[in-house]
Amino acid sequence: MASLFAGRRRWLVAGALGAALVAAAPVALATNGSDNADARSSAGTGDRTADVRAAVQGGHARNVILFIGDGMGQSEITAARNYERGAAGRLAMDELPLTGDYTTYAVEQNNPAKPNYVTDSAASGTGWATGTKTYNGAISVDAYGNDVPTILELAKRNGLRTGDVTTAEVQDATPAVLGAHVVNRDCKGPVETTAKCAKNAKENGGLGSIAEQLVQTRPDVLLGGGAKYFNQQVTAGKFKGKTVLDQAKAAGYTVVNTAADLAAAKKGKPVLGLFADGNMPVNWTGPAAVHGGTAPTRCAPNPKLPATQPKLADQTRKALELLDDRRSDKGFFLQVEGASIDKQDHAADPCGQIGETVDFDAAIAAGTAFARSHPDTLVLVTADHGHSSQIVEPAATPGLTATLITNEGANMTLAYGTAEAGGSQSHTGTQVRIAGLGPQAANIVGLTNQTDLFGTLKRALKLR
Ligand SMILES: [Zn+2]
Repeated sequence: MASLFAGRRRWLVAGALGAALVAAAPVALATNGSDNADARSSAGTGDRTADVRAAVQGGHARNVILFIGDGMGQSEITAARNYERGAAGRLAMDELPLTGDYTTYAVEQNNPAKPNYVTDSAASGTGWATGTKTYNGAISVDAYGNDVPTILELAKRNGLRTGDVTTAEVQDATPAVLGAHVVNRDCKGPVETTAKCAKNAKENGGLGSIAEQLVQTRPDVLLGGGAKYFNQQVTAGKFKGKTVLDQAKAAGYTVVNTAADLAAAKKGKPVLGLFADGNMPVNWTGPAAVHGGTAPTRCAPNPKLPATQPKLADQTRKALELLDDRRSDKGFFLQVEGASIDKQDHAADPCGQIGETVDFDAAIAAGTAFARSHPDTLVLVTADHGHSSQIVEPAATPGLTATLITNEGANMTLAYGTAEAGGSQSHTGTQVRIAGLGPQAANIVGLTNQTDLFGTLKRALKLR
């Protein structure tokens, strides 16, 4: 975490993006955060017309890096920016030259004409992964439970290398939608699938649980938590009685469990990184929001974070190294999820939430650094849905609040008003930001629908 009052000068550089764009053209992008703050002018009112025009590129992208901040609405972005960079500072995700919003709604099961205004991660992920609106809980099946092909499956079919990276269980909804099709997001392993997704269960002739299907889809890079589901036994077929991990090894996966093992993994074989039994532990800790608020406080590093656990930025850089092969005429599709922004927002834990947003932003910086040296790369940053946290005046709410002291030394109060203490805060139905750079990124400008992103990705990678 940056020290208090570090980099005061960057508070003066709001709107310096234009200058950065000119300096970095044609990949219109500044380096992350405060690093080059001194190099920026403070000409916040400059005419950016030419810079924006230069950022609009048609054509095709060799590579796509899609960053998903789970539950990362504008309020979550603003809270993280205020805390880490200061109100006038900029996160790495703020430096992307083109931005828009998209709508995130789900639809009713068996009635896709009827909207459900508040989506979950399963329906929203299915939206960009397949271009199909579906019901909450659905993993890349339509409103009637029929499988629909995903962008990662299409990328593989077209000969691209593929990656799926998260801080959650790899069977969690956002990573799952790329490589599995089940009627209920809870069907993470064979046991849950037998109980809740009879139609998908192996013993009934289905494709199996999310864990099994991810192995069968076989992305070149699959990194996150969720090891416990790989220890379950397959119920039918060639691997009956063996574990899902056995199945993954038979599919050629190199399995790694620590940051050091991940760093040592070699190109050429698919890599399965399982860094936790469940979701990966979060980076920061602090007081949960309570009725009447907390005393102003600073966030602290999570003492329970295992030293062997890779950061999301480490996972991202390694995935890029493994997927990038300039000798091949084909590029790659990579999705990277910062998953626990959402999970800590559900828990009304502002430090947990902000720490995960900052960690996710460091992964984005790794992605945009790659794009600077590989300008045929489309980088997109978005969320799957909004969430509860709001930046409010102290004592302005009957809900749960906590007050944090930001790096610039000011108090910031966050309110969570959609569940009682100990309950799970609600997603919201707001439109969310989508930002990008590179070929085809212009298609995110203005207001689009989450399902439109599928078409943008498909067009950018020229997939058939
Ligand atoms: Zn959630």
